[in-house]
Amino acid sequence: MFPSIKITKTTSPRSKPVPGQALPFGKHFTDHMFVMDYVEGQGWINPRIEPYGPISIEPTAMVFHYGQAVFEGLKAYRCSDGSVNLFRPELNYERLNESDNRLVIPHIDPDFCVHATKTLVDLDKDWIPTGECESLYIRPFVFATDPYLGVRPSSTYKFMILLSPSGAYYPQGINPIKIYVEETYVRAVRGGTGYTKCAGNYAASLIAQHKAHESGYVQVLWLDGIEQKYIEEVGSMNMFFVIDGVLVTPALNGSILPGITRRTCIELAKSLGMEVQERQVSIDEIIAAGRDNRLTEAFGTGTAAVISPVGELKYKDDVIIINNNLIGPVAKMVYDTITGVQSGKLEDQYGWVTKV
Ligand SMILES: *Cc1c(COP(=O)(O)O)cnc(C)c1O
Repeated sequence: MFPSIKITKTTSPRSKPVPGQALPFGKHFTDHMFVMDYVEGQGWINPRIEPYGPISIEPTAMVFHYGQAVFEGLKAYRCSDGSVNLFRPELNYERLNESDNRLVIPHIDPDFCVHATKTLVDLDKDWIPTGECESLYIRPFVFATDPYLGVRPSSTYKFMILLSPSGAYYPQGINPIKIYVEETYVRAVRGGTGYTKCAGNYAASLIAQHKAHESGYVQVLWLDGIEQKYIEEVGSMNMFFVIDGVLVTPALNGSILPGITRRTCIELAKSLGMEVQERQVSIDEIIAAGRDNRLTEAFGTGTAAVISPVGELKYKDDVIIINNNLIGPVAKMVYDTITGVQSGKLEDQYGWVTKV
């Protein structure tokens, strides 16, 4: 039995995005949000759903000063029969707890989190956009609230879930992206927080993203923090390569985020009999394989885009073009299968879907 969630419905519904119009990521929020508090000695208390709106918090709240904050990202999809799918939500909440562990934030029962997510999504289900490849983005997050300026773990926290209708990631069809290999800055090091979705990781990554944009590249490919030689990941995506017909991805080493789309892609490829290698992949190997035409595909995986093919990779003075700037067959198969199951068009033979 889960603790009951007190629901206070809005009396002034927010205006919904107009169907058919472009729906930018992360700009519209639904009528309600989920909130729960942690108080040392009492645990997680007072789970509730309230109208979406500003919250009151002390300026001394520890999150503002020492960054004890973690988040997750998942989506709800509307099927043609009107039902609503979540994609492997239990994995998001298991990962949230891994992030919590690293930042000394108390655990939250993942089953209760899935239940809270379903309750909130169900209440605001009219906000789920119904267009092709549109979805409702779900943002759970936890942050420290003690009004205190000493450095130590907070003894109070808030856990919240927000919902944001979001448009198709590829309104004009899948276009491969151009990626810049970062040589100066690093995202994470082993022993650090790279494997968690903690807010500070993203703050630290902005400067390289800014630099990449200035040179006409969309995203940054990060190399390892020690030798700056091995590929880690891209922005908020894990990386895959097809070399001599083998699907290769950097092994999870503590500094890479263990993506749920990554895991799904590996499981899917293996189930179809493809050889998959999780190992160290150096940037030199990728550049050499690109030159010898042995690198037939490169793509990123993440909840936002599912699959993002990479058409161009720039490292120092080398620029390689991959698969003539087109999506390749492995990326397309993974994209079609995952989005097909998410939207209910394909049978869920792998048990990925949780119905709201
Ligand atoms: C969220 C994220 C990913 C992708 O994870 P998914 O679970 O597949 O969405 C990859 N890398 C980073 C740094 C991320 O924040």
